[in-house]
Amino acid sequence: MRGRAERLADAVDEAGLDVLLITDLVNVGYVTGYSGSNGIALVGPRTRTFVTDFRYVEQAEVEVHSSFQRLRASLDLLDAVDGALPEGQLRLGFEDSHMSVRQHARLRELLPDRVELVGADGIVEGLRAVKEPEEIERIRAASALADAAFERLIRDGLVGRTEREVAIALEADMRDRGAQRPSFETIVAAGPHGALPHAQPREVEIKAGQLVVIDWGAELDGYCSDCTRTVATGDPGEEARQAYELVLEAQLAGLGAVRAGADARAVDAVARAVIADAGQGERFGHGLGHGVGLAVHEGPRLSQRSDDGLVAGNVVTVEPGVYVPGEFGVRIEDLVVVTDDGCDILTSIPKHLMTTD
Ligand code: ZN
Ligand code: ZN
Repeated sequence: MRGRAERLADAVDEAGLDVLLITDLVNVGYVTGYSGSNGIALVGPRTRTFVTDFRYVEQAEVEVHSSFQRLRASLDLLDAVDGALPEGQLRLGFEDSHMSVRQHARLRELLPDRVELVGADGIVEGLRAVKEPEEIERIRAASALADAAFERLIRDGLVGRTEREVAIALEADMRDRGAQRPSFETIVAAGPHGALPHAQPREVEIKAGQLVVIDWGAELDGYCSDCTRTVATGDPGEEARQAYELVLEAQLAGLGAVRAGADARAVDAVARAVIADAGQGERFGHGLGHGVGLAVHEGPRLSQRSDDGLVAGNVVTVEPGVYVPGEFGVRIEDLVVVTDDGCDILTSIPKHLMTTD
């Protein structure tokens, strides 16, 4: 596979731009290798420039790929943009969802009239959505680490611990195993609280006979994992057990529809139909899944509004849910790599309704 900067330069050219100004730090890191907290990059067919301030000059020497010219600027890195541009009339793309109105005004003020500023979003994200083999291995390792921490958590039992204690224990165990940090704030939501898809762990004890939604991930080597399991602390009752089986059926149907060439919207629809056919459509209010990589939410999106198409090398979640307000919630989420004939499931935790103390 050609280098990222070369592929990006092609994409910039195809977008009708001469240069792309990259200000989102995750994108800057992806393209240049830089991991500090103040840096921008300019990439185009004739341009490979990285800019940082004096604090990061040495770090950039080590991290930033040698194909980039490295510039040192004042703390306001936009000051250096004009000097890094090729000559002549130019169309300069900027990441419009990663730039404030104030920064944009400042940039316009700094640049000569020969430079046209063009809002251009998602170009680096489009490359990031298709993982290189080495990236997939890092995500696989993050996922395995998170799985191991979860398995230990379940062995230790949940009843009598608060949601917050459980979340903290899971996060601490992931760090012990080498994770840099959780890839997002862990969700532990028991009983009726599980009906909130983005519930925050409370200082409330988990009781016997509840469903507990646990959504967690590890960041390892810069890459994220993401997984959800819903476990029972004893028999949660007939309605909850049925909802679990329905979500599992939808999840398996969704997994079965994932393959290179599929429309993300169609994959969402396959899983959604299982839940809707059971008369529970209103209880599944979010998209089926999302891409995962350097960020825990990135492209492609699996939802009713997505225009994305799946390609081999996408890493996505498949995570349908059923949420019954005041009663319980169920979500089952796996992380998968899209392949030519289906998908490779990275999550290794079983999916039958697990019961723990
Ligand atoms: Zn999740
Ligand atoms: Zn997710």
